[in-house]
Amino acid sequence: DVKAVETPKQTSKQLHVDSKWSDTTPYASKKKLQSWFQLPDGNWELGTILRTSGNESLISMSEGKVLNINSETLVPANPDILDGVDDLMQLSYLNEPSVLYNLQYRYNRDMIYTKAGPVLIAINPFKKVSLYGNDYIEAYKRKSDESPHVYAITDTAMREMIRDEVNQSIIISGESGAGKTETAKIAMQYLAALGGGSGIEYEILKTNPILEAFGNAKTLRNDNSSRFGKLIEIHFSETGKISGAKIQTCIFQSTFSGLVKICFATQKTQAGCFHEQSRVVQCSEGERSYHIFYQLCAGAPQVLREKLNLKSAEEFKYLSQSNCYTISGVDDAEQFRVVMEALEIVHVNKQDQDSVFAMLAAVLWLGNVTFTEVDSENHVEPVIDEDLTNVATLIGCNIEELKLALSTRNMRVGKRNDTIVQKLTLAQAIDTRDALAKSIYSCLFDWLVEQINKSLAVGKRRTGRSISILDIYGFESFERNSFEQFCINYANERLQQHFNRHLFKLEQEEYIQDGIDWAKVDFEDNQDCLNLFEKKPLGLQSLLDEESTFPNGTDLSFANKLKQHLDSNPCFRGERGKAFTVSHYAGEVTYDTTGFLEKNRDLLHLDSIQLLSSCTCHLPQAFASSMLTHSEKPIVGALHKSGGADSQKLSVTTKFRGQLFQLMQRLENTTPHFIRCIKPNNFQSPGSYSQGLVLQQLRCCGVLEVVRISRSGFPTRMSHQKFARRYGFLLLDHVASQDPLSVSVSILHQFNILPEMYQVGYTKLFFRTGQIGVLEDTRNRT
Ligand code: ATP
Ligand code: MG
Repeated sequence: DVKAVETPKQTSKQLHVDSKWSDTTPYASKKKLQSWFQLPDGNWELGTILRTSGNESLISMSEGKVLNINSETLVPANPDILDGVDDLMQLSYLNEPSVLYNLQYRYNRDMIYTKAGPVLIAINPFKKVSLYGNDYIEAYKRKSDESPHVYAITDTAMREMIRDEVNQSIIISGESGAGKTETAKIAMQYLAALGGGSGIEYEILKTNPILEAFGNAKTLRNDNSSRFGKLIEIHFSETGKISGAKIQTCIFQSTFSGLVKICFATQKTQAGCFHEQSRVVQCSEGERSYHIFYQLCAGAPQVLREKLNLKSAEEFKYLSQSNCYTISGVDDAEQFRVVMEALEIVHVNKQDQDSVFAMLAAVLWLGNVTFTEVDSENHVEPVIDEDLTNVATLIGCNIEELKLALSTRNMRVGKRNDTIVQKLTLAQAIDTRDALAKSIYSCLFDWLVEQINKSLAVGKRRTGRSISILDIYGFESFERNSFEQFCINYANERLQQHFNRHLFKLEQEEYIQDGIDWAKVDFEDNQDCLNLFEKKPLGLQSLLDEESTFPNGTDLSFANKLKQHLDSNPCFRGERGKAFTVSHYAGEVTYDTTGFLEKNRDLLHLDSIQLLSSCTCHLPQAFASSMLTHSEKPIVGALHKSGGADSQKLSVTTKFRGQLFQLMQRLENTTPHFIRCIKPNNFQSPGSYSQGLVLQQLRCCGVLEVVRISRSGFPTRMSHQKFARRYGFLLLDHVASQDPLSVSVSILHQFNILPEMYQVGYTKLFFRTGQIGVLEDTRNRT
């Protein structure tokens, strides 16, 4: 007996296997059907059911092996005719092994793209595949090729933008190294080819090498890992020609990539905390800071080298910590020329280019600044040497002021708000130095984006039609999850909501159009989890911000507060010690709060901002004023009056949430198209497909969720005509009327398809998953 499909409510993210054999075993064993069973290593194998007795089924595998398997654990396989279908929705049995097998089947044939209903799945080939270029672009443009492709989904976006006069978005997600950035570039190429002509498309494409140089770094997981989220909005004129673009980025300053990690290592080394140091250094071995530093050191022309007093990368401590300078197959010097040319193309003038390089060199020299103890209380001052003087020259400040900013802090105390000058210890001074370096770098990045935006601005001819491409970090769950994962996963929770709501809407429209009882479709929402993060005053973010403002707050007191206030929340679970667990849509993640408070506070002190604003060079000045305007309270007055106190800057979480909201707002009124990138192995190597790894990503990035969402509706659709044609001959009794609808209904009755398993629409029949599979098997065996 077939039971109605229940909408699974639990958070276990395994795709619920549709119609297990337990429903259909007697039928299956008679017909010698193929079935999936799981080996102890977790991989799935295909076998044929020979017979079933009691709870056990006898399965024959390839090469004549025979196994006894618990019938309950068998999962139905699809008929061979469905091998490698280009849309997972075409599978009769939508279960994990079938999905995995289908993707692998295609991947082995270099068909790296597959649809999962409205979503495009892209599996990273880690090699050149001949799927791109003008011939392919032409074919998709003419629609002579309709197999799943980034071009196809981009083409749809383009057509819908013109047809519906609605802005579109292409939302790309996936783990680090899965291929998001490459995919975004492929989509941009297609848009440039279709909407090109004015020449601006060339400028738009040239933003990629710039943003990658300044925002990407080599990590253990990806030689070209983006350390920022990016939304690029490409504008079109009424005739469908590209008229401009706007880029919005989303970063966490305090966790700004390898550079930060490396600063952290320095700090620990010099503070003499060796255990921690080895862990940190270990985790950054083999990683690099941002590409641009190595490119500059390797590729700067002689005149520039002398002006910046540049040395080789090995001589800068920020770069030498991780003991990794090159990327195999990449020529940094050559890349530097590419970046310089690109800067030219996006109209960053020579003078500004020089200022940019000066800031980069200043950051590198800052990392070399060392300190010496000046009293018996462990207070330090920077050593006045080449390193320090270079920094001062490059940013254009007085060396005494630089020295002061790196060794003292102005504090306000007592009821009268007296300003006292606190001297810094070695650890504090290093913190201050590194925070300054990080701030200069992240301001530089923001400034560059601003320049690019000015250059690509649409101006008055703006038509309001655009296609946005979002390339953003995917859901992350590691052995140890920290503040970075906390932010990233929150962002993904927001995106997932966007995703769910959109699919929900799409489904709804189709059902209503065909007159289907809409109430029977049930969707899961992740609003509870979002509330856990966002609620004021008792949500994760508010509590973190609150604890971060307490001088005595610690990671432990934060963790305890969470347990105290949130333990009744079903998405939250306090763990032993400093940890807590969140039930995300993609599964449970346990976060270790170590370092949360420090990372959430914005470390830069007002003294450092003041230093930058006193510089004679225009970039540091611009940075200082942008930092001041971005702070919560106007503190410009305070700056001039009192010489500065700790600035009231926004916490990292709050800033990040703000950026994310802006981003989501832009996406809100667009028609979204989703691309989910999948990394088939952890070695960045072609040809290897790890089922476990792929499955984990399918679960995390919500692809199986789409399948599940559709499953809770009626994902299989067939017109009355097609259904009658295909299965009509199976009818035993004569049907009086030959019209497709009557034939279809008779078939449904004869096969005892339960009323809750299907709906009859005006033009189509709608089925729960697995239903057509039963009919299809009968058909094939008749
Ligand atoms: P991160 O989150 O770390 O930025 P990502 O998802 O953006 O990762 P990419 O940088 O786009 O990952 O891809 C990683 C590498 O995989 C690329 O440098 C490239 O070598 C390879 N790759 C990705 N997509 C393709 C493709 N379509 N064809 C060939 N190679 C690809
Ligand atoms: Mg990337």
